Amino acid sequence: MQATPIYELSQKYADNRVFIKRDDLVPFSFGGNKARKARLFYQDIIQKNIDVIVTYGSSKSNHCRIISNMAAAMGLECHIISSQENYEECANSKMISSFGAQIETCPVHEVSRVIDETLDALKKEGKHPYFIMGGGHGNFGTAAYVTAYQEILRYEKEEHRIFDYIFFASGTGTTQAGLVCGKLIEQMDPLNKEYCRGKIIGISISREKGKGYDIVKNSIKDYLKEQTLSVEEVISDELIFIDDYRRGGYGIHDQHVSDLIDQVMCQEGIPMDKTYVGKAFCGMQDYLNEHAIKDSNVLFIHTGGTPLYFD
Ligand SMILES: *Cc1c(COP(=O)(O)O)cnc(C)c1O
Repeated sequence: MQATPIYELSQKYADNRVFIKRDDLVPFSFGGNKARKARLFYQDIIQKNIDVIVTYGSSKSNHCRIISNMAAAMGLECHIISSQENYEECANSKMISSFGAQIETCPVHEVSRVIDETLDALKKEGKHPYFIMGGGHGNFGTAAYVTAYQEILRYEKEEHRIFDYIFFASGTGTTQAGLVCGKLIEQMDPLNKEYCRGKIIGISISREKGKGYDIVKNSIKDYLKEQTLSVEEVISDELIFIDDYRRGGYGIHDQHVSDLIDQVMCQEGIPMDKTYVGKAFCGMQDYLNEHAIKDSNVLFIHTGGTPLYFD
């Protein structure tokens, strides 16, 4: 896959130069970080004898849209398990149905039991299911963002521009874990000494700090372990997970977010949604203001979610 574009936005935000990495333009099913992760699941699945994919997520989940699209494209059966609390029909849920996925809703505390039962039932039918964690969690998801970090590093070198900060929406955590692992790994190369400086700041769109931080940390450890690297001491220096801009939790936004989304669409021609990207972009602006950060080079990663723009 080619690197996704990075370029400077026309406006300054909180008196900083802001650049954007357009991961929403990853070329599959409206793109986004879940499409970047899905490529690695795809490569794993085609090497195995798989006939059905099982995953879970909310009705707004970009992950579920992309996985069900991928399954349809591969001619595989797909099962999506969703919690029935705040299940609402939206652009993503309509597409998931149109791809022929079987959607099963249940109370949130029963999701993991329903997943187990679904996998067992499929195996009893003689099928070979492939299970993908929500949000593409796990080492494949992390690996996808190690690659994204390397794309950023290459841009820094080619353009002789060093980012001071890297912001993005942090949810199930492997986008952030991958970026941090990418930084830790690339920092070990003396040739990268003057680069790899940007502080990686995940803006939580859902989880509170304690839980969100631990999950990202565990993902980082899992990945580094698989790579047989031990740089554990420095993880906490590089892991910044901010929960100040959750605005009440998953899927909740306020006027401030909506106004900024309208502004960015008008001035930059870039669609952002209220659940993930617009919320994180707004959180970034607030963070820069509140920390009196000025005249810095800031990179924002657009992690996708374009269909949600229309909800
Ligand atoms: C899932 C998602 C995120 C969060 O990514 P994680 O890897 O789960 O932290 C951010 N933005 C969009 C558009 C997403 O769909």
